[in-house]
Amino acid sequence: MPRGGTRGAARDIPSATVGRLITYLRVLNGLVARGVARVSSDLLAEEAQVSAFQVRKDLAYFGTFGTRGTGYTVSSLRTELKRILGLTRPWRVAIVGMGRLGQALADYPGLSEYDFELVAAFDVDERKVGARYGSVTVSHMSELDVAVADMAIEMVLLTVPVEAAQAAADAVVRAGVRGILNFAPTVVSVPEGVKVEPVDFLAALKRVSYFLHERALPVREAS
Ligand code: NAD
Repeated sequence: MPRGGTRGAARDIPSATVGRLITYLRVLNGLVARGVARVSSDLLAEEAQVSAFQVRKDLAYFGTFGTRGTGYTVSSLRTELKRILGLTRPWRVAIVGMGRLGQALADYPGLSEYDFELVAAFDVDERKVGARYGSVTVSHMSELDVAVADMAIEMVLLTVPVEAAQAAADAVVRAGVRGILNFAPTVVSVPEGVKVEPVDFLAALKRVSYFLHERALPVREAS
């Protein structure tokens, strides 16, 4: 446990910090795989591509980790980050919308390696119901309510067409799910207490486009 750490503080931490904690955890997993027992904030920072100051500041939200001069014990910092991020047990996940993207995600074997257990899949298309992808068989959306309760589904990957996204998200929330990863390129509204995280690789490509475009522009002379 961190010294002087409080669980309550975690609620107010900036989302950028949460994003970096996820990166630190990935780095620590790599260090464990390489048999590294201790890590300095300098090395952690270098591998996470941030400053050592940033690493210390991010971890300070949760109390005092490590020892000045000798750094952090890799396994205990990793355990602590997993606890902070709620990754001490697998989360039960379902996919809603079993088209091209839904099927690809269901076939991806990596999900379970990252503490997420794919337990169900849903679609409105009768022709898809009963089909098997990866570890799941597609059920009809009309079975969502019962399935969420019976299978303790906690998160949904929402991979429906944009025009169906809000209605599908409403159904997911009504069924009792509190976490949605929304792949549809639209904002969906949800009540308080439900977390929607958008995922948009095209938006990321546009950021790359902007970067390349910016670099290609001739540098203007100062007048
Ligand atoms: P798709 O048309 O192949 O599949 C959509 C599936 O959703 C279909 O099987 C359809 O029957 C089902 N569906 C429709 N309404 C539904 C509802 N109310 N409840 C449950 N299922 C329903 O589409 P796709 O190519 O798999 O793309 C899915 C979504 O993901 C789209 O919104 C697309 O724009 C988006 N997308 C996002 C990214 C990203 O990076 N975020 C990348 C690719 C696609």
